[in-house]
Amino acid sequence: MARFEDERRDMIDVLKERGITDERLLQAMMKVERHLFVSEPFVNRAYDDTALPIAKQQTISQPYTVAFMTQQLDLKDGAKVLEIGTGSGYQAAILAELGCKVYTIERHVDLLLQARKMFEKRGYRIGSKVGDGTIGWSEFGPYDGIVVTAAAPNVPEPLKEQLAEGGRLVIPVGDLDLQDLHVIIKTGSSFQVRIAQGFKFVPLIGKKGWNG
Ligand code: SAM
Repeated sequence: MARFEDERRDMIDVLKERGITDERLLQAMMKVERHLFVSEPFVNRAYDDTALPIAKQQTISQPYTVAFMTQQLDLKDGAKVLEIGTGSGYQAAILAELGCKVYTIERHVDLLLQARKMFEKRGYRIGSKVGDGTIGWSEFGPYDGIVVTAAAPNVPEPLKEQLAEGGRLVIPVGDLDLQDLHVIIKTGSSFQVRIAQGFKFVPLIGKKGWNG
């Protein structure tokens, strides 16, 4: 049996109990080995439903948060998705497993280089760059989904502008201690917004984020 398979199955059961229903997503999360995206001494805790530290004082998001955000994106096979905040590369790997065309931006070069190694090892073809994700990545847009994995003070306008028709932007918005998750759906020239409460992310730092 593959390493941590039982623990990964237990994690999937927790996600189901917490209301994650998308079978394709649950399968992708069963397949991606979260323990490879963290370092000691956290490897044994990789399948706990909790955020864990990675380098540069950042975190790999909690499995439930990754699942909830991804479910909110409502992605079809082959959808084009932009992730802001590559971190460990785990969320990007889940999106790639779902059959999406993935682009991801990280502001810390060391994190991005480490994540790229993981993508190469696992055979994921993911577009990535070091930069300020608050201004998006217009070159490859528009996107069917944009997921921001760090907390913003406001919704950056460039990200809304880079959404395709019917596309969704999922982003935590609030103060530094607590945020609400905004799910913004582009319909024609207007945007519908749904809000889920009570999330905690590291700050989104950039021109249209904190310290911008
Ligand atoms: N998605 C990541 C994963 O699966 O491991 C979790 C990311 S962590 C919660 C948030 C990341 O956003 C950090 O790595 C941080 O450096 C990055 N970040 C913060 N502001 C950013 C910005 N303006 N552009 C790109 N990345 C940013």
